[in-house]
Amino acid sequence: MSVREQPKMIIVGAGLGGALLANYLGKAGFEVDVFEKRGDIRTAEIVAGRSINLALSTRGIHALTEVGVIDEVMREAIPMPGRMVHSVGGDLAFQPYGRDGQSINSVSRSGLNIILLNAAEKYGNVRLHFDHKCVDLDPDTATVEFGRSGTNERTTVSGDTVIGCDGAFSAVRNRMQRLDRFDYSIQYLEHGYKELVIPAAQGGGFRMEKNALHIWPRRSFMMIALPNADGSYTVTCFWPLEGERSFDKLKSEEDVLRYFGEHFADAVPLMPTLTSDYFANPTSSLATVRCSPWNYHDKVALLGDAAHAVVPFYGQGMIAAFEDCTILHECLVESGLSRTQALAKYHALRKENGDAIADLAIGNFIEMRDHVGSPAFLRKKKRQKWLHRLFPKHYVPLYTMVSFTRTPYAEAVRRAVTQDRFVARLKLATASLAVLIVVLLLWIGL
Ligand SMILES: Cc1cc2nc3c(=O)[nH]c(=O)nc-3n(C[C@H](O)[C@H](O)[C@H](O)COP(=O)(O)OP(=O)(O)OC[C@H]3O[C@@H](n4cnc5c(N)ncnc54)[C@H](O)[C@@H]3O)c2cc1C
Repeated sequence: MSVREQPKMIIVGAGLGGALLANYLGKAGFEVDVFEKRGDIRTAEIVAGRSINLALSTRGIHALTEVGVIDEVMREAIPMPGRMVHSVGGDLAFQPYGRDGQSINSVSRSGLNIILLNAAEKYGNVRLHFDHKCVDLDPDTATVEFGRSGTNERTTVSGDTVIGCDGAFSAVRNRMQRLDRFDYSIQYLEHGYKELVIPAAQGGGFRMEKNALHIWPRRSFMMIALPNADGSYTVTCFWPLEGERSFDKLKSEEDVLRYFGEHFADAVPLMPTLTSDYFANPTSSLATVRCSPWNYHDKVALLGDAAHAVVPFYGQGMIAAFEDCTILHECLVESGLSRTQALAKYHALRKENGDAIADLAIGNFIEMRDHVGSPAFLRKKKRQKWLHRLFPKHYVPLYTMVSFTRTPYAEAVRRAVTQDRFVARLKLATASLAVLIVVLLLWIGL
């Protein structure tokens, strides 16, 4: 029998989380086999199931820096220091996300995935296997059964630990659901999404402000657009799936043109292929997945959307998957921890943060579609900015903590609650003081 120096890790899914984890584990010297159900995106034309571009922020940048690919990623990234709000009448208002110089970044999903796969493959101890779909798993022996696309062929692979990075509809998690005391829930939004495009201007320029996340907030629904390096924008409509003002209501090209003309009139001239794209592109649903535990002894762990799919409104789904990779890697290489302890520690450290970002993402949907245009929201943002400037260490807006720091999500939420309480007390104290002064002035007869 041969003696293995390093544990053999089987990663299921070579999406964003799986490909990054392969880098972390490859760099740490583990034996890593990655199995992906699709073909190799570097050589095959794969239809991306979802968002063509994504917002990359601090936590993700940290992870990509640790595995040494950040420079390559940032070369094509487009900084978005704020949101550009489009009113129904076409007026524009720019709202910075943070202090000067703080930006989230628009990056290509497939470009990022390719960079991570190329980097992973450079490690001699990482092997990538495409067209391998996980169809079953024995959690007690870390044995995975794969089906080969287009054939009836089945392969069985055993390792020391299986890490399910296979997305929101994870086959690995699906098998864990049959274990005793495994909690699982999926909560669908009544809104879905559809992607459209604003092509680059003739000659390759951008048709709107390049350095911004564009948003058309319309209370119960909204549309956003993120810039791509080629001058185009990926536009995403987040609308109800059924009922008034829903995808379901638009049946003909006239319906689409009328609806866009009514709600997003300034975007229509920028979208020459609007009606054909609208009917050609899928309408997809949005869901929050929660489960627990994310580990089974030293044999199985879940990571990224497989453990905690979140709705995309905080731009943190991929980022949370990347942060999972950072923490799982730290646990696995921590000296003195067995692999069982390492996976248990990973779950303990990450679960409350997965729950926190899931709640924040749902909350931010309401903020984005409903509040960003309102004067009350703008006043609140101004006050937050002012307090942050005045007390940079003691008052940090929640958005800043989530997007521009590595404060664990749950801790950021707790801190924001304390800060809000302090501000409410400060407002009460100021109002009381003002009343007291008026009473005093009246009393002394001035
Ligand atoms: C519209 C939209 C916009 C978004 N925008 C942002 C954003 O701006 N910023 C951000 O941080 N996040 C964003 N997200 C979230 C982000 O896309 C996900 O959180 C991220 O892709 C999760 O990475 P993952 O590796 O866990 O899963 P995935 O990226 O889904 O990868 C899973 C991989 O597993 C493979 N797979 C699936 N089943 C199997 C199987 N049975 N066997 C083998 N392989 C399998 C899949 O083919 C895929 O390659 C957005 C999501 C959506 C829907």
